[in-house]
Amino acid sequence: MSDIIHLLPDSIANQIAAGEVIQRPASVVKELVENSIDAGAEHIQILIKGAGRSLIQVTDDGKGMSPTDARMAFERHATSKIRSSEDLFSLTTMGFRGEALPSIAAISQLEVKSRQKEDELGTLLMISGSKLEKQEVVACGVGTSISVKNIFFNVPARRKFLKSNETERRNIFTELERIALVHPDIEFVVIENDIETLRLPKSGLRYRIAQLEGKNILQQLIEIEEETTLGKIYGYVSRPEFAKKTKASQFFFVNNRFIRHPYFHRAVTTAFEQLISPKEKPSYFIYFQVNPESLDVNIHPTKTEVKFENEQALWQILMVTVKESLGKFNAVPSIDFDRDDAPEIPLYDPKGNVSMPKVNLNPSYNPFNKPSQETHKSSAPMFEWEKLYSGFENERDLQTEEAIESDRSSPTLFKSEHSNSNVESDLFPEHYQFKQKYILTSVKSGLMIIDQHKAHVRILFDKYLEQIKLNKGVSQRVLFPDIIELSISEAAALPSVMDDIEALGFELNNLGNNCYAIQGVPSEIDNGNPTKLIHSMIGKSIETGSDVKSEIQESIALSLAYSTAIPYGRTLTAEEMLIIVSQLFATSTPSFTPEGQKIISLLSDQEIEKKMH
Ligand code: ADP
Ligand code: MG
Repeated sequence: MSDIIHLLPDSIANQIAAGEVIQRPASVVKELVENSIDAGAEHIQILIKGAGRSLIQVTDDGKGMSPTDARMAFERHATSKIRSSEDLFSLTTMGFRGEALPSIAAISQLEVKSRQKEDELGTLLMISGSKLEKQEVVACGVGTSISVKNIFFNVPARRKFLKSNETERRNIFTELERIALVHPDIEFVVIENDIETLRLPKSGLRYRIAQLEGKNILQQLIEIEEETTLGKIYGYVSRPEFAKKTKASQFFFVNNRFIRHPYFHRAVTTAFEQLISPKEKPSYFIYFQVNPESLDVNIHPTKTEVKFENEQALWQILMVTVKESLGKFNAVPSIDFDRDDAPEIPLYDPKGNVSMPKVNLNPSYNPFNKPSQETHKSSAPMFEWEKLYSGFENERDLQTEEAIESDRSSPTLFKSEHSNSNVESDLFPEHYQFKQKYILTSVKSGLMIIDQHKAHVRILFDKYLEQIKLNKGVSQRVLFPDIIELSISEAAALPSVMDDIEALGFELNNLGNNCYAIQGVPSEIDNGNPTKLIHSMIGKSIETGSDVKSEIQESIALSLAYSTAIPYGRTLTAEEMLIIVSQLFATSTPSFTPEGQKIISLLSDQEIEKKMH
């Protein structure tokens, strides 16, 4: 047989790359504005028509490009920002991959005008679907102006998947907000359909936050600042009394880049613990400046997750810094830093070990398993939740050890065949249900309070996520399938979630006209309403608005976990409480729900004593 492999033409390669970098109009805005910032611009104007579908134009007063550079900029992997792989570890620019411009040019009709200060005339380039249509000399101002028209004009499938104008517009502003919050010294102006809708004059950080969040936020902000050998943390958090029930503004940035960081988020919420109710959320704008070498350089273009080398130490520093600022600014007159469990600012010693409130859990530990020989020694494991508070409790209470060591099989939660099983719950620590909402149990240092619904959400989330990832949900065929009718937007979102929903054990059969027969459901979901569950999973993934697979999977697992977790108001048997508690402590993060809400609280002996006297 003759050879069949050939190289793809650049235009197609660029279109494929564009799928990674450019997902929606907001990605174009982000890439162009970041380029303007890298070019040293002080004023950036963003012009948008039709929520970015018809036109996105970004004009800056940066250093501009020479005629050759303007042409080169559209070659793949052409960049002025790095030369060698070592440069990757000391990045100071927003871009470095040299992929944005060729990707955008591959899926739009693009026009560039650019002039450098020292040149009298500038360059005009017109490119359509990667094809250079025109290059000529023009009169224009110093700087660069790039117009991107008719995004995805040659990729109808992608154009069709753009969401409503409202959603695309919101995404654009989400990107702009993240950029503007790191560059208060740059002026941004947004003009939409010929009307100026946003103007952010140059200012300091505090005022830039107010420009974006509203003047009222000024009185709410408390400054935080801490510098250690690991880097600098600065920014603002809101006073506890201004915490919000609805959406709060929560931002982390590292070296001028927006990042998501659920782990650091928990450091902040931990600092706010007991100052605000669990339903409320503090706003925060927190900036890290760290040595770029201590970051895992993020090669993926659209990812906002970043890995720090010293994450645990930074967690501690962040938590203490926020907590101290809250105390210092008298936000919390009741904070008493002499309390036993009050944290100390750790004097960081790069050579020493920083101790962290670590959850030393063995995820595979199952209290129902037959114990191995060594568990009979006095160092036998306690019930795992005790370990969570190992910071409070240095000695182990041995009373319940025999309970763990007794030989029993592992019951599945709430399966009726187990409800009669003779678990001798008096061998286990006692659990009490309070107001059909909390599980109370006595631990060595006090009274532990566990939220029954949230605990079960955490357990199920971990389980479903694993099923999705490993594709090991067990499906059960239904005799009379429900028919589900999807809305247009749900149907549009279905292809991106179908695999994951099927991995959980749902089986959908396309009947046409956006109707599907639900022919199989996960075997463990026996009483849920499958139509409702599917609507809610798709809805949640649309709401997440992400194209990143892992985020979609998380949203699906989360939605299903919330819909199927035991609700408040349900009376639990002693056995059920025991199972929830032991399964909770076998999860990755027993103390918090996937969304960072608190699951467990400890009322210490001292606190109880204080109340009694
Ligand atoms: P990257 O930003 O990763 O280098 P891009 O494809 O976004 O890749 O841009 C390619 C190159 O084009 C940049 O390295 C820069 O030299 C040049 N460039 C892009 N936009 C501008 C601009 N607004 N002003 C000046 N130069 C620019
Ligand atoms: Mg760039």
